[in-house]
Amino acid sequence: MDTKILIAVDELCRYYGHHLAVDAISFELAQGEVLGFLGPNGAGKSTTMQMISGNLAPSGGRIAINGIDLLDRPRLAKAEIGYLPEQPPVYPDLTVREYLAYCARLHRVGKTHRGGAISRALRRCGLHGVETRLIGNLSKGYQQRVGIAQAILHNPAVVILDEPTVGLDPNQIRDIRELIRELGQSHGIILSTHILPEVQATCTRVQIIHRGRLVFAESMQALQQRLTGKALVLETQSAVDITKLQQIAGVSAVEPLASRRARLLFDADNPAAAVAACVAAHDWGLVELALDRQSLEQVFVELTCNEDGAAQAAAA
Ligand code: ADP
Repeated sequence: MDTKILIAVDELCRYYGHHLAVDAISFELAQGEVLGFLGPNGAGKSTTMQMISGNLAPSGGRIAINGIDLLDRPRLAKAEIGYLPEQPPVYPDLTVREYLAYCARLHRVGKTHRGGAISRALRRCGLHGVETRLIGNLSKGYQQRVGIAQAILHNPAVVILDEPTVGLDPNQIRDIRELIRELGQSHGIILSTHILPEVQATCTRVQIIHRGRLVFAESMQALQQRLTGKALVLETQSAVDITKLQQIAGVSAVEPLASRRARLLFDADNPAAAVAACVAAHDWGLVELALDRQSLEQVFVELTCNEDGAAQAAAA
């Protein structure tokens, strides 16, 4: 089956005065993907999201939503986008159903289709049972579901969610992440978030933006491999003989860490069994032998840490 490209962004730029906030960004989003969009504050995430959702004019570049050029045919292209801003645009004095009926009109859902569209959104967001309640009386988690329901009401190809779990409790967070994964199967989703575990829990792909440029773009699968790394951390009770470890087949280098700890790098197969045997043969007393996993947080910090950040950290 051909993969359907729902968003194609090509060399997108945006200046604020002389300041280049988004610098020649290009990427694609396919149906069935949940793309995590990460970056430090001021990196250019909101500017990019606003341009993709049709709320801000680019200074250069092209955006196609489900094959429709956003700049040439904005009305048609915008009908393919559902957007949940960081502050859900809900009215506390309306009931859930009244609010969704109002949104259906804003989204130009035809009169005859409105009832069906509302029922579908209520069902998909788990809102049946609260449809006659006032939004202001619902929990934050349910209000967020209402916000997501308005974003999918017109069955858009693309759903853009900005920090959708901020302020929710752990159970609500789990429910919303589950809902996002589910929606990701039929839509293309862009998820802007500061919460790195959220990206690992929900996304199929991750992009990091820094100073307006994309500095990282990988599938979650490739990222997991990168995070797993090709290194073992070894800790023993007594001091080891580094040259003995270096002689183990498959070990390409040994870096001594703190006392009685070392990092063993390898290129191909994991040599853990041989390392354990070597430790036992020399009676060094095995305390720990584990894959050295980098966290997404480490990758993020490495890619986005800069002189300004270091200076700020030093001043703090
Ligand atoms: P993020 O969402 O990643 O925090 P933004 O897209 O909001 O980043 O901002 C990117 C850069 O553009 C920042 O340097 C910010 O100060 C600047 N910027 C954002 N909006 C405006 C604006 N309306 N006018 C001038 N500069 C802006």
